[in-house]
Amino acid sequence: MDKCRGLTEVTVRIFQSNRGKFNGFYRILANPFFSFEFHSWRTNMILTVKTQAQTELTDITSRVQDEVRSAGVSDGICMVYVPHTTAAVTINESADPSVKSDILMILNQMVPWKADYRHMEGNSPAHIKSTLVGASEMIGIENGKLVLGTWQGIFFCEFDGPRTRKVHLRFIIDKRESDR
Ligand code: ZN
Repeated sequence: MDKCRGLTEVTVRIFQSNRGKFNGFYRILANPFFSFEFHSWRTNMILTVKTQAQTELTDITSRVQDEVRSAGVSDGICMVYVPHTTAAVTINESADPSVKSDILMILNQMVPWKADYRHMEGNSPAHIKSTLVGASEMIGIENGKLVLGTWQGIFFCEFDGPRTRKVHLRFIIDKRESDR
């Protein structure tokens, strides 16, 4: 292969599958000594979560795992992203429900609902808790399963409910079931 062309010889084909998801096939030949090929599929999903209380942790692990399965993801990464300023997502123990109530109890003590807040909407504690906990988590996927520890679960964190919320899932896929 001509070395001058080596770094620029990149072919990309993008097509849309019949399930409406964008798939990509990339073949990159960098130079005669360094060539590799990889497949990358990206899939986006949006879950709806209806919360019941002002502050609440909702276990969404099985719903995320169901989306991994229905997307046919074998290996890759799942990003869970919450597009809200008064909610969050976290990973913690799902076996004992006391853990989530203890987390909420301490977060509510750390950030009291009444204080000398300046935000006119009156929900500053929810904004603060959202920032403390964070808007996203990244979880590995191996052999079609989320890579979580025995006791770990994925929790949507409501801090200004009850409301109907969205959770965005994005899969960066190394392999699909059909490639195995
Ligand atoms: Zn606000």
